[in-house]
Amino acid sequence: MASNTQMEINVGYQGEGENLFAIADAQLKRGYDALKLDDNLRTILSQPKNEIIIHFPVKMPSGEVKLFKGYRVQHNNALGPFKGGIRYHQDVHLDELKALSAWMTWKSALVGIPYGGAKGGIKFNPRDYSQEELEAITRRFTHALGSNIGPEWDIPAPDMGTNAQMMDWMMDTYVHIHSSTEREAARRVVTGKSLTCGGSHGREAATGQGVVYCIEEWAERKRFDLDGATLAVQGFGNVGSNVARIMARKGASVVAVGDHSCYLRNDEGFNPHKLAEYAREHRQLKGYPGGKEITRDEFFEVNCDIMVPAALELQILEKEAQVLKAKVVVEAANGPTNLGGEAILLERGIDIIPDILANSGGVIVSYYEWLQNKRSESWYKEHVEEKLQRRMKRVYDRAYRRAGELKVDLRTACYALALEQIRNVYDARGVWP
Ligand code: NAD
Repeated sequence: MASNTQMEINVGYQGEGENLFAIADAQLKRGYDALKLDDNLRTILSQPKNEIIIHFPVKMPSGEVKLFKGYRVQHNNALGPFKGGIRYHQDVHLDELKALSAWMTWKSALVGIPYGGAKGGIKFNPRDYSQEELEAITRRFTHALGSNIGPEWDIPAPDMGTNAQMMDWMMDTYVHIHSSTEREAARRVVTGKSLTCGGSHGREAATGQGVVYCIEEWAERKRFDLDGATLAVQGFGNVGSNVARIMARKGASVVAVGDHSCYLRNDEGFNPHKLAEYAREHRQLKGYPGGKEITRDEFFEVNCDIMVPAALELQILEKEAQVLKAKVVVEAANGPTNLGGEAILLERGIDIIPDILANSGGVIVSYYEWLQNKRSESWYKEHVEEKLQRRMKRVYDRAYRRAGELKVDLRTACYALALEQIRNVYDARGVWP
């Protein structure tokens, strides 16, 4: 049976009942309207190209057979192979993955990398399973996906509940179902692998690092000093913990954190390194000795300059938006703000750095990993970081200027930039036959 079993402490999945794909569609519509695009492009992009659902059995180390539900949604590949993460979470469902896959399409187009958008996942709670069981589930899922993924077709990466270890298992399984002459190329079927298995320097921290580059761009334009700034971070996994660590190096302090198990506050500022170590070891924040436990509501009301949602979608709804005290919401997570919440934030003069811009560092460095694999190269960490920084600053600047030209918010400007890229391809290629 499952080991490492932990009680999932319900701290509230706030967005229940809201359809994420409808939200993604409404955001996109603002981009279309800003550009006055024709209906044909809207029709083409209104649904994902492929929605793959697989029920696959896994023989557990105990001998018991369990059935799992896995997904891969391939939204669009006009600009290049489908690309996007694999999520392990008990709430994974089709409309969520449709939205997440669409956001990948817009993100890749926005940052100018030759990828389309996809997202996949398995509906289960990985915290309830041992490493041995997770390996069996990951390998069996990869085998079941078969040729639905591929290094020039659809390239998964880590997302919530998955990490480099799972990418290594996916890569290894995929390589073994291919002939010897295809194996070298087959290694780049996934990105976010460990360094020893062909991963890139800087990939693990890339999403958090990219979030911080965006915060720096925002701060520069606002003439806001990050040294001494205060931060609240929801979700302390890969993305949240890296944002906290990198911001600490800039002199900012994390005064509130939260995850699936609890919310904590420390007005003096947490030590992000110790906190990350604790979260990794205990797979939760609950029990961390260096802070006072607060409620989820208190977390969103906390006095801070920068609010970083880095967990699930649909966390900042109308209720949270009304009480938030931060100057800026930086969407490290995908889709953390609903439409009503966004309207209230903007009305209250709270800036939003939208997800498709803020968390794009992950897919950018995934692209660098894929390129290194393709060329049998290994780039220095400094080289990766410098390339990431240059690209993100350039994209932020373009989005900021486009927002001014179109007289729209930053999210709509990002959609407009992404849509212009995709429109150009459809205009040139047409719809055939
Ligand atoms: P992770 O699994 O490493 O961490 C997720 C964190 O969210 C954990 O701390 C977990 O406890 C917390 N969490 C889960 N349910 C919660 C709840 N109900 N309330 C509060 N906290 C909860 O995942 P990650 O890779 O850090 O991803 C976080 C977010 O960033 C996701 O939205 C993901 O799509 C997005 N993202 C990740 C990457 C990447 O490279 N990993 C890239 C782009 C976007």
